[in-house]
Amino acid sequence: MQRRQFLAAMGASLAPSALSAADPRGPSILVHEHVLVDFIGADAITRDRYDLEDAFRVARPKLEELKALGCRRMLECTPNYIGRDPRLLRMLEDAVGIELWTNTGLYAAADHKFLPAFAKTETAEQLARRWVAEWRDGVDGVKPRFIKVGVNKGPLHEWDRKVVQAAALTSRETGLPIAAHTGDGSAAQEELEIVLQAGVPAERFIWVHAQNELDHAIHDAVAKAGAWVEFDGINARSLRWHERCVQHMARAGLLHRTLISHDSGWYRPGEPGGGQYNGYTFLYEQFAPQVQDWFSILLWENPRRAFGA
Ligand SMILES: [Zn+2]
Repeated sequence: MQRRQFLAAMGASLAPSALSAADPRGPSILVHEHVLVDFIGADAITRDRYDLEDAFRVARPKLEELKALGCRRMLECTPNYIGRDPRLLRMLEDAVGIELWTNTGLYAAADHKFLPAFAKTETAEQLARRWVAEWRDGVDGVKPRFIKVGVNKGPLHEWDRKVVQAAALTSRETGLPIAAHTGDGSAAQEELEIVLQAGVPAERFIWVHAQNELDHAIHDAVAKAGAWVEFDGINARSLRWHERCVQHMARAGLLHRTLISHDSGWYRPGEPGGGQYNGYTFLYEQFAPQVQDWFSILLWENPRRAFGA
């Protein structure tokens, strides 16, 4: 951080490109971010709620800023029926030169507002067949590289359990990892149980939003079982708690099961100019200095072990 301090002392601009030129931390991957999210609900969502070119124009500089910090790949975690748009991701990938991975799956959290009607009546096997087909055939010509599901707090509702079961069946067939937006620690443990019972190894399961669970004993239990514990949502307000979580995992010898990300973005259909699009630099500028020794394990090695190289 000496260069930063030097630049700051000189009153120089801390533009990302200035930093990355001498950034010794190496390449990185962000495992949980968003480019476009539309919370209108599964029964009202359509792609004509936004202009593709406009979303591209707004997102592009945010990704360029991120690329200048050494980021090579970003996992776009917006599920189907909440604004997943692989066409947009491919346009941005081509223009910026950063990998943007998309997902298959469904989001049952937020009390099932984002579940399409068919998801409520079909079986886990039927849902899994849809997701395996997306993996095999691609979505808008792009192959999903992970499964993204979402569940509420535990004890899980039957529809929550069903999407996790479908994720497990899909993972068993495709080998894709499962990133699960999860309400709390008890839900995470219930999910992991479903995954293991389906014969999927624990390391394929990623507990998303683990920062919402305040009991480190549950973080430890899930990580010790072999699954991944993801502390995302890193921002100015959460900074101290996220530091404590990562430091706890390091002390417990569980850093090799820990992931971090912003859960930031994004273009908002229905708002003028896509609304307030937050960028992806905070972690590099404010959080990385606190976990300097672990930068490469948290932001390069672990993302590749969890999601594939
Ligand atoms: Zn998210």
